[in-house]
Amino acid sequence: MKSFVYSSQPSRVIFGLGALRALEQEIDLLGAHRALVLCTPGQRKQAEHVAQILGARAAGIYDRAVMHVPMDTVREARETARRLGADCAVAVGGGSTTGLGKAIALDSGLPILAIPTTYAGSEMTPIFGLTEAGIKKTGRDVRVLPRTVIYDPELSVGLPVGLSVTSGINAIAHAAEGLYARDGNPVMSLMAEEGIRAMADGLGQIAKSSTDLDARGECLYGAWLCGTVLGSVGMALHHKLCHTLGGSFNLPHAETHTVVLPHAIAYNSQAAPDAMRCISRALHRPDASAAAALFDLARGHQAPTSLRALGMRAEDLDRAADIALANPYWNPRPIERVAVRELLQAAFDGTRPA
Ligand code: NAD
Repeated sequence: MKSFVYSSQPSRVIFGLGALRALEQEIDLLGAHRALVLCTPGQRKQAEHVAQILGARAAGIYDRAVMHVPMDTVREARETARRLGADCAVAVGGGSTTGLGKAIALDSGLPILAIPTTYAGSEMTPIFGLTEAGIKKTGRDVRVLPRTVIYDPELSVGLPVGLSVTSGINAIAHAAEGLYARDGNPVMSLMAEEGIRAMADGLGQIAKSSTDLDARGECLYGAWLCGTVLGSVGMALHHKLCHTLGGSFNLPHAETHTVVLPHAIAYNSQAAPDAMRCISRALHRPDASAAAALFDLARGHQAPTSLRALGMRAEDLDRAADIALANPYWNPRPIERVAVRELLQAAFDGTRPA
């Protein structure tokens, strides 16, 4: 029998169609009275809608959240929160907006209420990232974990199908690596397998009708489960490679996860056979290898399948391997340079794993 340690994260989840209607009540439960609403420039309308629901409880809107949480933006947002006397932050958006909320919470302890509109899963983790002078640093701090998360499928209906697929596979990557985490446990494995299943099924339905609210709900349910796994257990080679490719070569976040995942899973397949079985089963492909089934999932939805298509240069692959190996995460299979370089080549070429 396998021994394990399980610890849960203190967060409250309100899930369902129309869940946004609970917003005022949830702000009251936090003991807050003046919420600063955060969003990207492109999601200003959604933030205005949220501010309208908040009425007198809205302190204002800060609409300059951007990818990678640059410190200039963080300083401006923190100053805005202070100036407006905000006593909580409401993050309406994907990982970039939630990330900005986390940066404010890290400094001030302001509670965050997150309203996710992508499937990245940041709302369920105590992990933050901050970028200064081109270098992204990450850390863990329970102060940045959103206290309340409202998942309402209506808010993700506008997420384009292409972005939905890559964001969904980004979520699946958290669950897939959670299945072979060194500090994994049976509860997280249940969540991971169910998260992969829900996300893959939801994406299949979204491909037929992007406004299908049941399908959007299924994907958000998957995002919640996969994000919980990310926040609870350690990630391995796949996440290390994606941080390297995003941080040092400026490749787009969700797309990079989508391309690399089948190859990272192929790398680990012999070392983590139970995890592989769970992934194949969750994708309803029990007879296919997990790596091939993940590749087919991306290709079947017309998502990018090669690093070349994302703008990576062949001459940078050696450097990417060096950076990924310099400070490796724990991984079920030992990290071997030749094999990692081969993995990157396969991801660059977009070769279907055997
Ligand atoms: P994102 O938040 O950058 O959003 C991508 C784009 O989609 C943005 O322009 C956004 O405005 C738009 N968008 C979002 N929802 C939309 C909707 N419903 N309709 C229309 N447009 C919408 O992308 P992301 O993939 O959610 O997040 C990526 C970032 O989050 C990365 O920086 C990553 O490192 C971080 N992240 C952090 C964690 C963590 O635990 N800390 C977890 C996952 C991701």
